[in-house]
Amino acid sequence: MLIVMKKNATDHQVREVVEAVEKRGYTAHAIPGGERVSIGILYNKGSVDAGHFLGFGGVKEVIPVTKPYKLVSREFRQENTQIRVGDAVFGNGTMPVIAGPCAVESLDQVLRIAESVKKAGAKLFRGGAFKPRTSPYSFQGLGLTGLEHLTRVREATGLPVVTEAMDVETFDMVEAHADVIQIGTRNMQNFSLLRRAGKAKKPIILKRGMSAMLQEWLMAAEYIMEEGNSEVILCERGVRTFVRHSRNTLDLSVVPAAKKESHLPIIVDPSHAAGIRDQVVPLAFASAALGVDGLMIEVHNHPEEALSDGAQSLYPDQFAHTMKKLTDIRSIIESS
Ligand code: PEP
Ligand code: MN
Repeated sequence: MLIVMKKNATDHQVREVVEAVEKRGYTAHAIPGGERVSIGILYNKGSVDAGHFLGFGGVKEVIPVTKPYKLVSREFRQENTQIRVGDAVFGNGTMPVIAGPCAVESLDQVLRIAESVKKAGAKLFRGGAFKPRTSPYSFQGLGLTGLEHLTRVREATGLPVVTEAMDVETFDMVEAHADVIQIGTRNMQNFSLLRRAGKAKKPIILKRGMSAMLQEWLMAAEYIMEEGNSEVILCERGVRTFVRHSRNTLDLSVVPAAKKESHLPIIVDPSHAAGIRDQVVPLAFASAALGVDGLMIEVHNHPEEALSDGAQSLYPDQFAHTMKKLTDIRSIIESS
């Protein structure tokens, strides 16, 4: 249930409604909007009597919420959520690009790549210090040393850094070094990790699970928001299908579907979807044409020597060329 207040409702009227909700044993969650405040009712078992709240001063309407997710839903918040990181904004109609290697391998490697992606127009730098690898024998990441290298990247370039938190045990360490914390595909339904992310004071990029339905993905985002962190960016990175010509199948149709259901920004990672360099660029163009709220692209200065995901990493000059074309595509989208 969502109680929508009138544009001119006073703070006192909002408080009265919140108190009335709480008196009935429910939780009230005030959602400030551009024009008016809405109050969501959470933890109600069974239906709530809408008529009870309609009589309060300042109340415009009471809307039943039909979806299992609440805080993430468009029913709860009509305006797009905008998330600012450095001078990038996700969700305001622009398309900030996050770029960098799959994994942090050395200080020199990240500094070089960061310089080149910044020059090409990337707004954030990415690089994993804790790597969720399919094989326990593959490179697992540099851990704390990798996080420290990312801090050096931020200092040297001014680019905010995105890196993955793989478990609750190392979350504090990641939170201390990252500007944006990524929850990876393999952890989309790790509910204790999601709850920890909900307590974080940094924005979260929530990647879609390997074969997650939109509803499951949004419920995962709900876990984070329910703990108090409203800065969640959804990231489509391809889902597992029967095809062999790409690592995963980029599900472009989930972008408009997610935008209809949720106010959260949604970005696309064509690198993990494709798994092959030559497919990354066209998929990035298609995503840009779709009006996504951002892109995440893997770039490596020596992809053939990369310790993970070299085959899908763009060369720095290929990335720079792609960025120019992305700007052209976006100018058509943004002016239409
Ligand atoms: C990554 O971005 O480094 C990563 C491991 O991605 P995903 O969780 O989408 O596989
Ligand atoms: Mn990768």
